[in-house]
Amino acid sequence: ADQSFDVVVLGAGPGGYSAAFRAADLGLKVALVERYSTLGGVCLNVGCIPSKALLHTAAVVEEAAKMAEHGISFGKPDIDLDKLRKFKEGVVGKLTGGLAGMAKARKVAVVTGIGAFVGPNHIEVETKDGKQVLQFASAIIAAGSQSVKLPFAPEDERIVDSTGALLLKSVPKKMLIIGGGIIGLEMGTVYSTLGARLDVVEMLDGLMQGADRDLVKVWQKMNEHRFDNIMLKTKTVGIEAKKDGIWVTFEGEKAPKEPQRYDLVLQAVGRSPNGKNIGADKAGVQVGDRGFIPVNSQMRTNVPHIFAIGDIVGQPMLAHKAVHEGHVAAEVAAGQKSHFDATVIPSVAYTDPEVAWVGLTEDEAKKQGRKITKGMFPWAASGRAIANGRDEGFTKLLFDEETHRIVGGGIVGTNAGDMIGEVALAIEMGADMVDIGKTIHPHPTLGESIGMAAEVAEGVCTDLP
Ligand code: FAD
Repeated sequence: ADQSFDVVVLGAGPGGYSAAFRAADLGLKVALVERYSTLGGVCLNVGCIPSKALLHTAAVVEEAAKMAEHGISFGKPDIDLDKLRKFKEGVVGKLTGGLAGMAKARKVAVVTGIGAFVGPNHIEVETKDGKQVLQFASAIIAAGSQSVKLPFAPEDERIVDSTGALLLKSVPKKMLIIGGGIIGLEMGTVYSTLGARLDVVEMLDGLMQGADRDLVKVWQKMNEHRFDNIMLKTKTVGIEAKKDGIWVTFEGEKAPKEPQRYDLVLQAVGRSPNGKNIGADKAGVQVGDRGFIPVNSQMRTNVPHIFAIGDIVGQPMLAHKAVHEGHVAAEVAAGQKSHFDATVIPSVAYTDPEVAWVGLTEDEAKKQGRKITKGMFPWAASGRAIANGRDEGFTKLLFDEETHRIVGGGIVGTNAGDMIGEVALAIEMGADMVDIGKTIHPHPTLGESIGMAAEVAEGVCTDLP
């Protein structure tokens, strides 16, 4: 072997870099293998961060338009796509550059190239200067996921996945989003604010699956104007690239009979793990049929000195989950007795308004036959939301009927994502409705609505409008 390490991390997304940095901080000699020239993986390069740079811009544009009602008009926005793209690239560059600095400061050896196991203690990396073999005592697989492509979709630059959509080459007149999940709806928000008309097609019976239906209703009411057609319980069965556009055929309850024409088609039908592309069998690591790698609560695979974390180990495929799993794997590799033991993992759609949820939803509680007490606080009663001119939202908390402990919560409204962490903390701490209701929240804030929702559940906040 060319070089020997305590830990080799395969993949430098949020899971991989967090694991590498924690392992180095614990005194281990670490290599971080990444096929792309920058660190940060999907999240920083083509996921969370660039999408939020564009979504923030879109939210400001929408907000500016609403200011006319406050007596201040900005007129029609003048959109310079080149500049917007540069802004987004600058945001990504700042963060990925920061990671490179953090790796260097910790003496983490960054090896750029495609890596694969060649044995239970060796990973071979194809770098631009040839093959390099890294020997390891422990390895952490953090190779992430990639977007699923519909098998019948032809190669055409007008048919993109989220990575293609983030390039923002142009603004189409008419755009189809295949898949009504968070990623599709976030990208749709950006393109619609920039001027595109949207259609969305979803196989299931509602958009933003996983979120509480009450929350989604509010989002949908505020966003209906972006869509010409919301096709639920409908399948995309054919895509044809023609000179005059992309023609798409649908099947199902709300399917148009004739093929429809689009200028841009976004495939957002889910992500599939990279478990099958890393030579796992050479190290004896088991990989499931769909490419996920099974692990225990210490993030160990069936081969005890090889760990796996992040999107490649399963749902939810979210950056904050990957980071925490990365820390656990690194700590265990360093000899600590850590376990991944999160009770809940929050989800956020950074749309306008934002939709955020954590723990049980009302539907899930019902399905489990669990008796709950609900506390709903409508933002129409929040001074801050009214002052912001954005009082369409609400905060909803669910408590166990018997113990009064919080088991779930959801927020729809501006900044919902920034607030849901408090609900996650309350669940992790086993807080009950009095704990939350008696916690003094600053006034006037949107966060107050969390305390108020708990008081509604207690029955002590009865003076709602
Ligand atoms: P990844 O980020 O996928 O990183 C894996 C890395 O491994 C990649 O850099 C890849 O190049 C590298 N790699 C793979 N195989 C090899 C190999 N053989 N050799 C060398 N390198 C290899 N999550 C959120 O929490 N919040 C959000 O707002 C959010 N927004 C998103 C928006 C979009 C458009 C997308 C696509 C995703 C979004 N996600 C979001 C999901 C988030 O990006 C992922 O959950 C997260 O990146 C997973 O981290 P990871 O470390 O498991 O893997």
